[in-house]
Amino acid sequence: MENNNIPGRCNVDAGSRDRLESLTMHEMTIVAGILRIVEDQARAAGASTVNTIELDIGDLAGIEIDALRFCFEAARRDTIAADAELVINRIPGRGHCPQCDIDVPVEYHVAVCPECEQALVEVFQGRELKVKSINVD
Ligand SMILES: [Zn+2]
Repeated sequence: MENNNIPGRCNVDAGSRDRLESLTMHEMTIVAGILRIVEDQARAAGASTVNTIELDIGDLAGIEIDALRFCFEAARRDTIAADAELVINRIPGRGHCPQCDIDVPVEYHVAVCPECEQALVEVFQGRELKVKSINVD
């Protein structure tokens, strides 16, 4: 079954088992992608071990950090990143209101300008999901 839901932060059933399982599947897919990038880069650098993986994750990227760390702990075994430390940089949501010509904080995907209260805000920051750097030996 395909699950295209982006996890929200205000679901009433946040503790339900179904939601937890779908969250973990979502994060597991992301972790698998991260580990693939890390292994490719480490091999390209001729490294034998990965010490640190630094990620940029936007607050609007739909990622549960706890679930991501949980999946990373499980998935990194038997990889070149088995002993790697995971460093996560949270990137706050930011957007620009063209009507007021100001930048405003954004907490949800549909952002309303706090000045003019119009939903014209164009989000330019907070959807990041990338491997920023890795440290290898
Ligand atoms: Zn505005």
